[in-house]
Amino acid sequence: MSQLRFKVVEEAFNRKPVKVEIPKEKSSEYYGKAVFNRQKMFEYLPKKTFEALTKAIDNKEPLSREIADSVAAGMKQWALDNGAKHYTHWFHPLTDGTAEKHDSFIEHDGKGGVVEEFTGKLLVQQEPDASSFPNGGIRNTFEARGYSAWDISSPAFIIHNTLCIPTIFIAYTGESLDYKTPLLRALNSVDKAGTAVAQYFDPNVKHVHSYLGWEQEYFLVDEALYSARPDLMLTGRTLMGHESAKNQQLEDHYFGAIPTRVDAFMLELETECHKLGIPAKTRHNEVAPNQFELAPIFEETNLANDHNLLLMSLIDDVARRHNFRALLHEKPFAGINGSGKHNNWSLGTDTGVLLFAPGKTPKQNLQFVTFVANVMAAIYKYNGLIKASISSATNAHRLGANEAPPAIISMFLGTQLSNILSAIEDSDEDVAISVEGKERYSMNLSQIPEIMVDNTDRNRTSPFAFTGNRFEFRAVGSSANCASAMIAINAAVAEQLTLFKKNVDAKLAAGQDLEHAIITEVRELIKMSKPIHFDGNGYSDEWKEEAAKRGLDCETSVPLIFDAYLDDKAVKMFENTNVFTKVELEARNEVKWETYTKKVQIEARVLGDLALNHVIPVATRYQSVLLDNVFKIKNLFPKEDGELIAKRDLEQIKKMEEHMLFIKDKVNEMVDARKVANKIETEREKAIAYHDNVFPLFDEIRYHIDKLELMVDDEIWPLPKYRELLFIR
Ligand code: ADP
Ligand code: MG
Repeated sequence: MSQLRFKVVEEAFNRKPVKVEIPKEKSSEYYGKAVFNRQKMFEYLPKKTFEALTKAIDNKEPLSREIADSVAAGMKQWALDNGAKHYTHWFHPLTDGTAEKHDSFIEHDGKGGVVEEFTGKLLVQQEPDASSFPNGGIRNTFEARGYSAWDISSPAFIIHNTLCIPTIFIAYTGESLDYKTPLLRALNSVDKAGTAVAQYFDPNVKHVHSYLGWEQEYFLVDEALYSARPDLMLTGRTLMGHESAKNQQLEDHYFGAIPTRVDAFMLELETECHKLGIPAKTRHNEVAPNQFELAPIFEETNLANDHNLLLMSLIDDVARRHNFRALLHEKPFAGINGSGKHNNWSLGTDTGVLLFAPGKTPKQNLQFVTFVANVMAAIYKYNGLIKASISSATNAHRLGANEAPPAIISMFLGTQLSNILSAIEDSDEDVAISVEGKERYSMNLSQIPEIMVDNTDRNRTSPFAFTGNRFEFRAVGSSANCASAMIAINAAVAEQLTLFKKNVDAKLAAGQDLEHAIITEVRELIKMSKPIHFDGNGYSDEWKEEAAKRGLDCETSVPLIFDAYLDDKAVKMFENTNVFTKVELEARNEVKWETYTKKVQIEARVLGDLALNHVIPVATRYQSVLLDNVFKIKNLFPKEDGELIAKRDLEQIKKMEEHMLFIKDKVNEMVDARKVANKIETEREKAIAYHDNVFPLFDEIRYHIDKLELMVDDEIWPLPKYRELLFIR
């Protein structure tokens, strides 16, 4: 029975590294080879088309059909020159991944043969027959049409001989059904609002860009072991498994030497990334055994997010070629670190200024504190929503667990920035900054020009930390689409900046001078958003109490956390920033609740099956070996000796029986709880029922299974154990 386990363990143990074909050229020579970037556009498009397209990209303008036809012709030629046979609109539906439907370039040529064709119409817009994507009731099946439309700001690329065109995906009736549409809207909104404020400091600013540098964590498991764990295969995480005696307690994995097999995998992954123009830069072992990280150089947020989605599918692909399976789940193994995806986020002007970086002059620093204070205000006002933006059934295993951010959003600023903000807060209006006499700064504020916030103190327990020239949002889950967090943050900040501008303009209209008006507003924001600022240990119990006192959102139930999307404040904010309509928000929440339910439901089924078909039968088998032994002992020895000698076996038999009974009862209870929950009609209530009544049984059942794992003869235990799964050789 356990033959399978031993076979796969042996297979994994003896696995040799896969030889990687490394390109002989330098990375810079094949970087972006598979991307229709500006260089290729220049090469393949007529001059007029090239200019029209780049202008449209830079100024976020629509393309005329005539230009689109010309772009399509050039793009097709480039694709065919590079071996592409198919094309697809590549989009991000409200699932965990990306979607694509491939069409071949061929069309009849009217002479019995075919030609390769690709028109502007096909490039710009398609109607995927997509009635089975999550849509929260927006598209009923009789109105199943959806449109995908080209996002010219993200370049097309070739993968697996298919030309992929990044697109948005919307319903026939105009509502967004994807992540990209609202992300682009949020980015436009923060561009507009940010530019208006940045122009106080430099009238030449025409755009404010949002930047994202994600850090992708993941686990690798040998594919043979993976194939013997139905829970990993079906849910992405282990639903049972006793802790390995050794795991991460020696802290010997983090930044340790990368195992040879993994090194080969990483090399191939990075080469693929570079061909696709993903600027993969950093790789290292993470804290947990078998856990690794890849981080690129940051990029404009929309492109960075496309690249993250592309990377997630590349990881999966390349891992398979190396006989691994990549686990992007937030918590594949209990008892050791989970995986996140830190989102390093910043805003910058088209004139090259990073708005969260202190500058050299007092004026630049006033701009710096202005943007920081507005971010604080936005995160404070929408802390519940920001938490909702990263909440999911899978990330819930990380949030609140002790190595990860708690399920409370707070901001870490570090000593220097905190001091600067208190100085502004405490100074009285009369000594506020005035820019005319460049040197006339108050005592406190005169410190600003000297700061080098670059080497900020680090606080690993804060979910939203200032790190010198950016904020690092650490609560994002490893399997998430970063767009969700980026939509909420950029939209909230856009709204706040608009409000800021309105208030400053009102002060200007009342005759105040600009710097005075700005610093007064900034002071108000600092005062207002104080409760969000916390530099202490975010994992401590005291913080949970303190956060509740401060009125921060401390909800831990994921289905209830989602409510934050539908409170009046959030709906208004999303409407004001043109990111979501109320209908879209409602539909999306339906999808969120439904997805939550389905994930817990699948886990419950797998857990029930494994408990009843794997664990209990094997434990019973071992129990009967023990029973057999007892009989033999009793036959062989005189009564009293026999009792004594069989005592240990009898105790074990009883103990195992208790565990098995408990498991059976709890699995039945879980099935009943599911039946009740499944009858509930509304998605929200159903998700709540799954959260409250089904999910809590997982850990209870698991506890007893893990106990049995320690009792049953290792020879017959069917599932690869943690100690076998977690250490790549
Ligand atoms: P750490 O692990 O110390 O947090 P990493 O080097 O792993 O840092 O990742 C930092 C990420 O932040 C990288 O993707 C980097 O490009 C990105 N980053 C750096 N500066 C900015 C910025 N101004 N805006 C957005 N992302 C940034
Ligand atoms: Mg980081």
